Amino acid sequence: MDSEVRCSRCDQTSQNVLDYKCCKCGHPLEVQVGQDFEVKRIFTKIWSIGRYLKFFPYMKDFDKTTLGEGWTPTVKLKDHVYFKLESLNPTGSFKDRGSAALVSAVRTRIKEAGGYLSEDSSGNAGASMAAYAARAGLAAKIYVPETVSGPKLSQIKSYGATVVKVAGSRQKVTEGAQKPEPGKFYVGHILHPLYRDGIRSLAYEIAEQFEWDPPENVYLPVSAGTLILGVISGFEHLAKSNVIERVPKIVACQTEQVSPLYHRFKNLIYSPPEKVTSIADALVSVNPPLLDIMVEDLRRVKGDAVTVKDPETLKAWHELGKKGFFVEPSSAVAYAAYKQHVADEKNAAREKTMIILTGMGLKTSLEPTR
Ligand SMILES: [Zn+2]
Repeated sequence: MDSEVRCSRCDQTSQNVLDYKCCKCGHPLEVQVGQDFEVKRIFTKIWSIGRYLKFFPYMKDFDKTTLGEGWTPTVKLKDHVYFKLESLNPTGSFKDRGSAALVSAVRTRIKEAGGYLSEDSSGNAGASMAAYAARAGLAAKIYVPETVSGPKLSQIKSYGATVVKVAGSRQKVTEGAQKPEPGKFYVGHILHPLYRDGIRSLAYEIAEQFEWDPPENVYLPVSAGTLILGVISGFEHLAKSNVIERVPKIVACQTEQVSPLYHRFKNLIYSPPEKVTSIADALVSVNPPLLDIMVEDLRRVKGDAVTVKDPETLKAWHELGKKGFFVEPSSAVAYAAYKQHVADEKNAAREKTMIILTGMGLKTSLEPTR
């Protein structure tokens, strides 16, 4: 079999591309790639995630859903430090990899049923899902908290999605999106296994852009976990297929306020704030449903987790701007974490390091202060 969707806890497999949790025990599902990665099977003339289509057999309607996501630039900052400009994806964030994978898999089913997509996100994922629904010719309802405004909400609307504002907690927004209604197909980006599986393509790209000798370290911001889980899965697939020698050291970067992974990984107790006020406003998952899987995966690949204080993030954000990289503050968390590490450990500056800049600066409402 080319690949299989299976429960992360029990042995149950899923044959339905629309499943987002195990039908037996309710735990999250994950994709198991059933074939080795082979460099010769890359479509080298396709400059998007489509070049790896052989390793995503479920992306049946890719031609009808792609917006050209992926194959984003790797830019050398200095000596051994590189940025991956995920901010240059079609809707301005890495989420497009997940949306492209998921929507291309479910498009026909939803179209034939005359249904529409339902998603809960007021941020990059909501905007991305709205864009891919539009491209695929599907209607979308994006559930957001009542209080949301700003550039990301405008972006969601501009793709023609219906915005449904929900009063109350973030959990209420998810419940609204999941509530069964005629024609509704919930494809929430946090839970759906195909969504985070699309992010596997990012690891392939990093490895290929370094001629299959990827950097020793990869720094990335972590919230709900789609990015880190997708990246680990991709590198592990390459390593198991003997295409790369080892999985790079994955460093999970979180804000001090929103750091459930850091705390669990270090065996510390985490008390979430009553209200998240960090400038890194895309990193808000204080209680991510995939936390157990994140800890397990990060330990298995011998990664690390760090936290960054807001003033350091702000400093890093300004510094990135001054170097020509206008990103959203949440992306600056990874750069701030890297700088912290180099300041603590001089040897770190000599290690080849990739920092993933996840989202575009035009979406932030934060004003530069200097
Ligand atoms: Zn199960």
